Amino acid sequence: MSESSAPFWKTKRLDDMSEAEWESLCDGCGRCCLIKMEDEDTGRYYFTDVACKLFDAGTCRCRDYPNRDKEVPDCVRLTPENAGSLGWMPPSCAYRLLSEGKNLPEWHPLVSGDPKTVETAGVSIRNRVFALENEVSIPELVERIRKWPGQWPRRPSSSVTKMGK
Ligand code: SF4
Ligand code: SF4
Repeated sequence: MSESSAPFWKTKRLDDMSEAEWESLCDGCGRCCLIKMEDEDTGRYYFTDVACKLFDAGTCRCRDYPNRDKEVPDCVRLTPENAGSLGWMPPSCAYRLLSEGKNLPEWHPLVSGDPKTVETAGVSIRNRVFALENEVSIPELVERIRKWPGQWPRRPSSSVTKMGK
């Protein structure tokens, strides 16, 4: 493949991409919208299967993406500068993959041409969210720590019951 016909994510640096190109890198998996807990002693992060209060479990998207900073001040805005340094970003996230010099996987919509492949490949958190953060107590949140959001995707073997359908 010549350089001119190669897709933009193979030829451009993250900070050279247009806004539309940058946004298209998000596969919509929703994993970054799951609540994380940090062990202050070790700095290690733990994912839960509880999502941010602004997450829409039906569409698997933020309910107010343009204004998310107002309602969720600690929602981290991804930039070319921080994409490679956020230790809690899922290993499947395109921003993390590209910032680490890796390629996009075959299930990424830009590669497959089909947004549904994010779900069929087990990347999406659709039907895997137990609850929203405002629906669980802190002790219950601790009980909801899960390994799968921080691992390379596998097809889910079962759905959760509280919120999942
Ligand atoms: S983890 Fe990455 S690809 Fe998935 S929703 Fe978040 S920003 Fe998008
Ligand atoms: S504010 Fe929106 S984008 Fe940010 S974590 Fe919550 S649901 Fe996700």
